[in-house]
Amino acid sequence: MYNYKNDFPLLANSTVAYLDNAATAQRPQCVIDAEDNFYRTCNANPMRGLYPLSIAATDAYEDAREAVRAFLNAKSTSEIIFTRNTTEGLNLIAYSYGLTQVHAGDEVLVSIMEHHSNLLPWQMVCRQTGATLRFIECRPDGSVDLDEIAAQITDKTKIVAMTQVSNVLGRENPIRAVADLAHAKGAVMVVDGAQSTPHKAVDVQALGADFLAFSGHKIFGPMGIGALYGRKELLKKMPPFLSGGEMIESVTREGAVFAELPHKFEAGTVNAAGAVGLHAAINYLQKIGYEEMERRETALVARALAGMKEMPYVHVLGSELAEEHTGIVAFAVDGVHPHDISEILAADDIAVRAGHHCAQPLLKHLGYNSTVRASFAFYNTEEEVDRLLASVSTLRERMGYGK
Ligand code: PMP
Repeated sequence: MYNYKNDFPLLANSTVAYLDNAATAQRPQCVIDAEDNFYRTCNANPMRGLYPLSIAATDAYEDAREAVRAFLNAKSTSEIIFTRNTTEGLNLIAYSYGLTQVHAGDEVLVSIMEHHSNLLPWQMVCRQTGATLRFIECRPDGSVDLDEIAAQITDKTKIVAMTQVSNVLGRENPIRAVADLAHAKGAVMVVDGAQSTPHKAVDVQALGADFLAFSGHKIFGPMGIGALYGRKELLKKMPPFLSGGEMIESVTREGAVFAELPHKFEAGTVNAAGAVGLHAAINYLQKIGYEEMERRETALVARALAGMKEMPYVHVLGSELAEEHTGIVAFAVDGVHPHDISEILAADDIAVRAGHHCAQPLLKHLGYNSTVRASFAFYNTEEEVDRLLASVSTLRERMGYGK
């Protein structure tokens, strides 16, 4: 069987069991090469110059936009805005759509399992507009109740914002069904795609998403590049989020005519090399195929869950089914603080995340302050899962609890 780690220079030359893929994935050589090649062969400010280098940079950047369009199955490249990351995409929606379309007395509905990036912007919108923020709760296994959600979405609801996959539970939300409920009441559906895009094909039209944001660095692309999908009719009526160069048609002393979509939302010099790297990441990911990735990740999660089940002092958050974890296993160990766990695992050359995972309301809802999270990618191995389990089985003893 092919060892996918050979595609990733950091992994090929390291003994670390890298199990923090939900925080950021590793980059394959082809992504590093694509970014490097941009700077070596066509570095110029895209869209500004009429000379060949600038035209080449513009073409590379716009080719990347087309790749993202196809990746998300958006109708048009004018619906794809390059951002720095998911956080920036969600803030763009909140500042530009939220602050102009939400008014006092309206409601914004988010789920309790949102990453802070899809919560704080809506808290801001509600604070500034006088709207009310409401929460969709979840059961201990991470599932949500569609009847409850249907009752929560009313004529007052202007925005429903939900993550497609939880970064703590790994559970996938029924976005299509929630989007249908939102649309029936005239609300827009905002989807956080940060944890879905690394693991499954995301089709914004099939999902019924009005907006969807994701980060390049979680899908094996560079840091500092991400994309936001927005439905054209909505983007058209939104004011720019940032203003300045690049996003104008013309400027006078008194005002400006803004550029057409998507450039209206891309002020200043863009991260063209990052976009080119993201394009390479999308190609790489599609070469491997989501089916193969999901198969491998689910097998790794199943092995981890089965091993942890044998340890009565280990508590896994969320579902008991590996298929409902999307590569993510968050857990707690009786009597051992998550930070101690991650330090001990680090000593065993295993990289995991400890803390609240930027989802404090969810952890509180589930009765935790913090947990450890192991998150798998397709390049992880059974041997790494076994190393994780072996280390976890020694934690209590190493903390002085005895056998
Ligand atoms: N949403 C979710 C569900 C995430 O897991 C993350 C990253 N941890 C984000 C948003 C924010 O992503 P970024 O830091 O790339 O903006």
